Amino acid sequence: MDKKITEKQIQWYPGHMFKSFREIKEKLKLMDLVIILLDARLPMSSMNPDILKIVKHKPILILYNKMDLADSNILKDQIIYFEEQGFQGLKIDAQSQINTNKIHEKAQSILQEKLERNKSKGLLERPIRTMILGIPNVGKSTLINALSGKKATKTGNKPGVTKAQQWIKIGSNFELLDTPGVLWPKFDDKKVGYHLAITGAIKDNIIPIDDVCHYALMFLKEYYPMRLLDKYSVPLDMYDYVEMLNQIGKQRGALLKGAEIDYDRVYHIILTDIRNKALGGLSFDRN
Ligand code: GDP
Repeated sequence: MDKKITEKQIQWYPGHMFKSFREIKEKLKLMDLVIILLDARLPMSSMNPDILKIVKHKPILILYNKMDLADSNILKDQIIYFEEQGFQGLKIDAQSQINTNKIHEKAQSILQEKLERNKSKGLLERPIRTMILGIPNVGKSTLINALSGKKATKTGNKPGVTKAQQWIKIGSNFELLDTPGVLWPKFDDKKVGYHLAITGAIKDNIIPIDDVCHYALMFLKEYYPMRLLDKYSVPLDMYDYVEMLNQIGKQRGALLKGAEIDYDRVYHIILTDIRNKALGGLSFDRN
């Protein structure tokens, strides 16, 4: 298992990432502040640790997106944990635009000292410039659209067409780059790989779905056993993986001819339910 993850990771991580880092580094020069978008369900796993080395000289605002899908108690502790490391943050739901109107204020409070210093030096006030960084699927486009008031999702650059850098104005003195920086998730730790796969941050073919489901069910059994009972009638004293799959398959009618369990369907049911909040708000990282 470890070996499978490592091989895939080596194949896909470096090429894309180095190009993306180079582009981000270039753009960073223009920024007063960098926004790192994390998935509120897995803030550690959705953080690319390498990016912190690149942006360390810039003020950082962490946004915990998809707060609606997370376990709010765990998220609260994790925000404190990041604060203790010096990272100010805000939980948001970019889709329903919860807290997105507080981003500007939070950014200003992070930059307050610098802004006051500039003012006392008599420097002209100019808009705060920022950009969003985050792994695929974390909600970058949704947030940019929400902040810019646009309905349509942005499409990527068309080949052969040079696109000017566009700034989205938010209020009178805050500007956001309209293209986000894409970070690739990093998973040297196999747990991180599973958390990314369960929530759909990495494609379902990177780690075999039966392995992902095995991890997910055992995780739910450990941290959310009541949810398994309520949703699928998995008894509290049932710990065997295959027995749990059988129970879920029977309860949801995922059967082949002859009443055998259709395991492929059971895997999809479990992952879809997790991703759609059918099991309630869930948090996967534990610190
Ligand atoms: P990107 O790849 O980082 O640009 O991610 P997208 O903006 O395309 O979002 C990926 C998926 O997450 C989409 O289906 C969005 O509708 C969904 N999404 C984004 N933000 C939220 C959120 O706060 N809550 C929920 N439940 N879904 C969200």
